[in-house]
Amino acid sequence: MRRRFTFKCWNLDCGKIYSLFKEITDEQVLIVACPFCLKEGVVDLAPYKKKTTVVRRKGDVEEPSIGYEYEFPDVVPTEEEPKQ
Ligand SMILES: [Zn+2]
Repeated sequence: MRRRFTFKCWNLDCGKIYSLFKEITDEQVLIVACPFCLKEGVVDLAPYKKKTTVVRRKGDVEEPSIGYEYEFPDVVPTEEEPKQ
């Protein structure tokens, strides 16, 4: 799933809001680079992942199937990359 996000730079000296196209993968963490101060930041996707339940009817039987979808705020905060 590739979509446009609006991020807020974690760097307090910058704090700019910028948008980027990012691919959501199973990685659960996005690495983004601020185009203004060029610092890299990370976005943990886990808090935005919501479990969804869809009920499918098979004859007389209702079978719930569990899936996931992402719900993002208008502006996604980034965090400083942890130092290795
Ligand atoms: Zn920045």
